[in-house]
Order: sequence, then C-alpha cells, then structure tokens
Amino acid sequence: MTAFGVPPVRVMLWLTSVAGVLLGLLSLLGRAPPLGIAAAGFALEAVISTLGVVLPGLGVFGAVYARGPAGRAEVALTFDDGPNPETTPRVLALLAEHGARATFFVIGEKALAHAGLVRAIAKAGHTVGVHGHVHDPLYALRSRRFVTADLERACAAVERVLGSSPTLFRPPIGLVSAAVAVAAERRGLTLVGFSSRTFDGVSRTPPARVLERATAALENGAILLLHDAAERDDRVPASLAVLPELLVRLRARGLSAVTVDTLRS
Ligand SMILES: [Zn+2]
Repeated sequence: MTAFGVPPVRVMLWLTSVAGVLLGLLSLLGRAPPLGIAAAGFALEAVISTLGVVLPGLGVFGAVYARGPAGRAEVALTFDDGPNPETTPRVLALLAEHGARATFFVIGEKALAHAGLVRAIAKAGHTVGVHGHVHDPLYALRSRRFVTADLERACAAVERVLGSSPTLFRPPIGLVSAAVAVAAERRGLTLVGFSSRTFDGVSRTPPARVLERATAALENGAILLLHDAAERDDRVPASLAVLPELLVRLRARGLSAVTVDTLRS
C-alpha cells in the first residue's frame, strides 16, 4: 500500500494511463514520441491491466477482501454457484452438525427459483452474498453497462427473497475487471475473493486432492472457495464428500468456521 492506502500497482496503472494521454496529445501537436517509448508504455499498461483481472488480490481495479485477520483463529468457508435443491440442504445439514457458519454466494436466477433455500441459508445464521445473476463466464470482459445490469438483477433477486440487500459480491469466475469493481462500488458491495481455491467444482479433481488442498490452506484468516452446487446443476461438487472431514480437521486445529461478515468485523 502507498501512504494514501492505494495499492502501488493501481498507481502505476494511473500513471501509465496519464502518460498515454500525454503521448497522444504530443502526437496531435506533431511531436510524436519515439515508437519504442509509446509501445513500451502501452505494453506496461496492458500487463498491469491483465494482472489486475487475473490476480484480483493485487487490488488494481478495486479493493478485494481475500483474507481475514491473522490474529484470530477463524476461517471463512464460502460456497458459490447455488442454491441447488439437492446439494445445498446437504451442505447446510453438515454445517449445522458441526456448528459452523459459512457464506453462500448465490446466483440470482437460482435464488429466485429456490427462494425457500435462500431463506433457509439465512435463517441458519449464514451470510448470503451475490455471485452475478446468470453466472456469465465472460463477466470480466463485459461492459460496465452489462455488469451493472446483471449485478442489479442479482441484488434485486436476493432483496425480493430475503427482504434485505446483500453486501458481499464474488464475481463469477472470481475475476475483477475495472467494470466489475466500479459496478460493485456503486452498489455498495464489498468484493470478496479467496485465499485458497480448492478446485472442488472441477469434475476431474478427486475429492482426496480437494481435501488435501483445503487442509493445507487452513490457517487464521483463510477464505476457502468451495461450491454447494455445480454451475449448471449437472453434477455434485467434491465439497459434499470433503466437507465432513474438513470440518473435523478445522476444529482439530482450533479454528472456527465463521461468515465473511464475522471475519471482517
Ligand atoms: Zn461460480
């Protein structure tokens, strides 16, 4: 962080953008800069922008909450892509059995289709955040207008079902573009990332490997990315098989599973 609380990479992006405008003005005035300098500046901006999208934790386009405090024995389990009438209740039952709280990033259209499930999630003391309305895999490449409209629909869906506005947002695929960051900020949503991706939603990943990865990530402040449903509801995510043992291991390490809200408080 810089002295003003802005990540250095974001400052570099601003500087390269301003330099680009200045070089453009010079060109208009007939004083075009050497091609090499212009090309290097353009390349630097492209690299920073790309890194900003694929590594949201760098905070190039906006602050992303991806890890909690290291001083508290708490971790946040987060579940994306639900709710699903078959798998979400099983996840809820396992969490209840172990006295664990979690955060569910629901897909807006699924929330509308399974409103009772969303209410059950909230009633059990878990936090409901949004994960886009239609789970568009190209979210980070979409225009600000598209992202703003999708986010609005997702938030409206949760408001209609729960009667209160969501405050947390995990973008589909977890990538953050400038459009995503601006849309989230305008809607007053906190962007939530993760400290560990368990790959439980990838069909080829064996549950043992998912458990191994999740266990290795268990430390104070960790935010684990899991799934309570498959994106297209066409299979059961590995997290269902992994969760019982993961919750036992979590407790054995003296950690508590809390919501992202609690982790941030
Ligand atoms: Zn997702």
